[in-house]
Order: sequence, then structure tokens, then C-alpha cells
Amino acid sequence: PDPLQREIRKALGSYTGVDPECIIAGAGSDELIDLLFRLFISPGDRLLDCDPTFGMYAFCARVAGADVHLIPRDELFGIDVNDIKDAIDPKTKMIFITSPNNPTGNVTEEDEVKRLLETGRIVVVDEAYYEFSQRTVAHLVPQHENLVVLRTLSKWAGLAGLRIGYGIMSPSLVNHIIDIKSPYNVNVAG
Ligand SMILES: *Cc1c(COP(=O)(O)O)cnc(C)c1O
Repeated sequence: PDPLQREIRKALGSYTGVDPECIIAGAGSDELIDLLFRLFISPGDRLLDCDPTFGMYAFCARVAGADVHLIPRDELFGIDVNDIKDAIDPKTKMIFITSPNNPTGNVTEEDEVKRLLETGRIVVVDEAYYEFSQRTVAHLVPQHENLVVLRTLSKWAGLAGLRIGYGIMSPSLVNHIIDIKSPYNVNVAG
């Protein structure tokens, strides 16, 4: 396979309407979550996670020796941006927002994501269920170098066994991921 993934990035570019330079594919978006930890997290760093949510962020945090600060969602499983902002400390490197959330389906509003982006921390918006909600913040990527949007073909396309996910982010972040990913992470069939 092409280590620079030219063909699939081009195809995902026309599917998403995003410049292929802003796209990187992974062996599932799970691999991209792991790569983001390798890029940004050292042992003792902290990430913020809105509980209950997808388990992979906490899993990667445990492997990386990072501290997961769980911020409880409210009684309707919404997030409170003020609670998240209050929890930021100097060791906080990443904030994870799953939208729509797994397992509760809540969508996080664009202005809430913008307020989190103002903190300067890496904000990962996991849009694994984007095709079901049609709500995205991917259009904010050109103005926000600290925004990472994750998508996958595992759910809407039913291709979880093929392991294809992708991230939408600034070209410089894409290049940092290319620098550290395993060269042939996405297979030819994918
Ligand atoms: C399923 C899922 C993923 C990971 O999917 P991959 O198969 O690794 O692409 C990531 N985030 C959420 C919220 C999911 O539900």
C-alpha cells in the first residue's frame, strides 16, 4: 500500500468535500485515536472525557500512562462546556467529544465546540455516527489547528471488519501523523 495513502485520501476528499491534504486514514478510527495519544500525550498528562462515552479514549489513556478526568454528562447526557473548561489544568492536553455520542446519541452544538477550541487544547470530535446525524464541525478545521474530527466506515457503511477510519485536521497535523504512523497501516483492499 501507498504510505501516503494518495488514492484513499483523494476518494475521502471527494466524499467529504474536504481537501485531501487535511485527511489521513487509519486502520479504523481507533488507530487514529492511538496515534493522537502518541503525538500529544506523555505519561502524567491529562485528558478530559465526557462520561458516559466511547471507551477507547480511556483505554488509550491507560496504555499511555495518562490521567483521564471524567466529566459527568448531565441528566439528559448533554455536556456542560463550563464544567469542561473548569477541569482544564496545565497538564491537560486533549479534550474528547463524541458527537453523536456513543452510547447516548447526543449531538454537541458547534458553538460549544468553538468555546472548547478557544482553550487552545487539542479538541477531538469523534463523528463516528456523522452519517446518521448529518451534523459536523469539519468545516471549522481550516480556522482551527487544534481541531481533529474523526470519522469511520465501520458504522454507516458496515465495514468494521475492513478497518477504515479517517481524520480531518490541519495539513501540518496530518504530516505529523504520517511521520509516526506505521507506513502500511491501511491495506490495499481498504
Ligand atoms: C465504533 C466507534 C469508533 C471506532 O471505529 P473504528 O472501527 O475503529 O473505525 C470510534 N468512535 C466511536 C464513537 C465509535 O462508536
